[in-house]
Amino acid sequence: MLCPCGSEQAYNQCCQPFIMASKAVNTPEQLMRSRYSAYANKQATYIYLTYAKSSQVEQSVEDIAQWAAQTTWLKLIIHSASDHKKNLANNEHAQVEFSAFYQLNGKIWLMREKSNFAIEDGKWRYLDGDVSDSKAYNKPKRNEFCFCGSHKKFKQCCAKNL
Ligand SMILES: [Zn+2]
Ligand SMILES: [Zn+2]
Repeated sequence: MLCPCGSEQAYNQCCQPFIMASKAVNTPEQLMRSRYSAYANKQATYIYLTYAKSSQVEQSVEDIAQWAAQTTWLKLIIHSASDHKKNLANNEHAQVEFSAFYQLNGKIWLMREKSNFAIEDGKWRYLDGDVSDSKAYNKPKRNEFCFCGSHKKFKQCCAKNL
């Protein structure tokens, strides 16, 4: 099975080792991708545990699981990501900007966000994000162009993840 994060790699060689906690995340982009894949595969505990501690107090595994259960994640596009850091120091910050498409209540939603990541206990954590765009699309017909901007037909693109 291909990884939901869009890397074109197998799930068990991409985000799954991070989600199953057998492998440490090295970069903010890896954390971003693996959190997206965890949403796609309803792994709420991983999403909870990869929040920064200051953000965990506002979250619960139950709330995350409920949101993940209602949504079908269709596509992740990474627009930019801070560089890989070899020496991780506490309080170091990084940004990743992404767009994610998901289906909720019969509509397709776009969320574009600039996420902030921070180092805690030597590990990257998701701190918070600024949403710069959020909108809904009607589901295209199978032969119409996909909403995600790939210039492919919907049936050959994001419909595969529905
Ligand atoms: Zn992946
Ligand atoms: Zn698409």
